[in-house]
Amino acid sequence: MNKELRKAVIAGNWKMNNTRPDTTGLIGRLKPLVAGAACDVIACVPHTNLETALKAAQGSNVKIGAQNCHWANSGAFTGEISAGMLAELGVRYVIIGHSERRQYFGETDVTVNQRVRAALDAGLTAILCVGELLEQREQEITGEICAMQTKIALSGVSKQELARIIIAYEPVWAIGTGKTATAQQAGEVCGLIRNVVANLYGKAAADALTIQYGGSMNPSNAAELLAMPDIDGGLIGGASLKAEDFAAIIKAAS
Ligand code: PEP
Repeated sequence: MNKELRKAVIAGNWKMNNTRPDTTGLIGRLKPLVAGAACDVIACVPHTNLETALKAAQGSNVKIGAQNCHWANSGAFTGEISAGMLAELGVRYVIIGHSERRQYFGETDVTVNQRVRAALDAGLTAILCVGELLEQREQEITGEICAMQTKIALSGVSKQELARIIIAYEPVWAIGTGKTATAQQAGEVCGLIRNVVANLYGKAAADALTIQYGGSMNPSNAAELLAMPDIDGGLIGGASLKAEDFAAIIKAAS
């Protein structure tokens, strides 16, 4: 599998953090730090900050994403936001199936697939999250879980559309816990996911797919994780809230 065929993508997941003034400030500090980055840089911000973030990032290489979208275009879905609404704002990326959505908001593999479909239909790129729980790792079923989540999420996605999918392997036990998967553990699962994609779409398509690792990635562990042959970037939570830390990870990926 050829890492040079893929662009590294570092995406920040701000989760439910930052006011609009914070957003302008953080993106303003980030822009000069990452101006020469050789990787793609994305900040996935809360829905209420999208317009502010798009404005703050204008004219820079910082791209803006959302953290979720609904599967329907419109309708009686109180509190939800459609992929079309994101696209209308000028957003190009959306995280789908983050473990916090699965854990706290009843997201299932099937609704993840529906949301992926909606994102693609609206012209967005989906950052699709998959990953095992701690007990699943202990039961040694990490491979099966990640393969199943990947296959269901990609159901009905064409080979052409796969170009607008980024997969983020995020072991749930490593998210926000300070516990990082070792580079070997992370690289192994990312490789396994790539094989699943190769079986579905062929080797060339799998070779071109960006697969990120996410789970307590920070400036001190990023270089080792990103050096693994099948890890093409990172989805970063906590460390994306500080411009200097996020920029240091971006530098490690560049
Ligand atoms: C995440 O929210 O996707 C994440 C990886 O969080 P953290 O980096 O804080 O573990």
